[in-house]
Amino acid sequence: MDVPDSKPSITVVAASKWSLSELFHVAALVAMHVGLVIALVRGPTWRLVALAAATYLVRMFAITAAYHRYFSHRSFKTSRIFQLVLAFLGTTAVQKGPLWWAAAHRVHHKHSDTERDVHSPLRRGFWYAHLGWWMGKDHQETRLDLVPDLAGYPELRWLDRYHVIGSAALIAAVTIPFGFDGFLWGYVASTVVLMHATFTINSLAHVWGSRRYATKDTSRNNAFLALLTLGEGWHNNHHHYMSSANQGFFWWEIDISFYVLRALEKLGIVWDLRRPPERILRKDLIAEVGERAPLLLGKETTSEDDVAPSLARTATRVS
Ligand SMILES: [Zn+2]
Ligand SMILES: [Zn+2]
Repeated sequence: MDVPDSKPSITVVAASKWSLSELFHVAALVAMHVGLVIALVRGPTWRLVALAAATYLVRMFAITAAYHRYFSHRSFKTSRIFQLVLAFLGTTAVQKGPLWWAAAHRVHHKHSDTERDVHSPLRRGFWYAHLGWWMGKDHQETRLDLVPDLAGYPELRWLDRYHVIGSAALIAAVTIPFGFDGFLWGYVASTVVLMHATFTINSLAHVWGSRRYATKDTSRNNAFLALLTLGEGWHNNHHHYMSSANQGFFWWEIDISFYVLRALEKLGIVWDLRRPPERILRKDLIAEVGERAPLLLGKETTSEDDVAPSLARTATRVS
């Protein structure tokens, strides 16, 4: 009679559950958080805090304005040179390359809060939406088929592949002039905060906040997250009209990334910033049409038919 041996089977399960890349990501994540603790224990100075704030703000702008609004949604135009500058700035944020980021994000809009969404807190829980999808092995490859408009640029494909040079450049830029503490504050502490702040849009912005528009997902507007992420917190606005360069639709919805883009527009560096037309601003207001998102009511979406209208809209807006 076969006697089940629990030890080898545990080893097999453990080995099959974690891929090398996942182990690396978990180890890197733990190391970064340990680095943050070391930075706090060694103690900040005003100069180090200013350095961390500067690297946070520049890189948050790179994620929101470049990776998100430009590469993912093409919400404004610029020159090929400045496009490359935006791509490079994005790689310093340690969130992989511009094509990978844009492709994964387009999947999020195409399948928001369905089983095929890459990071829906409704489907796989808060922590998976926040970090798990990003570190896991399922979404590591760059889906070039989803970014044909970007994949034609060889310099972007190269930067996407060797995105690690952005991190290396930043580490050198903060460590050479400011030493080990410069590395701890300008890179480690800043990156940990940047990472969690960015990922709140995938997790919290689909859970916490108010809804103005009856989108077919759980997206919400949240002023606190908008301040933290330089404008990304107006996430319900964004899901309502994703091709807009501004996510704060009204003057009281602070959207710092958009203000910077406006300044760059005045300088002639970017142009054709897209904004929501008047009819879009008034369309599908929950106050008028009511909440129409079945997902919010806990009802499972059983077929693609349920999300077909939003998919059709995505197809015309994303490309
Ligand atoms: Zn979303
Ligand atoms: Zn988006």
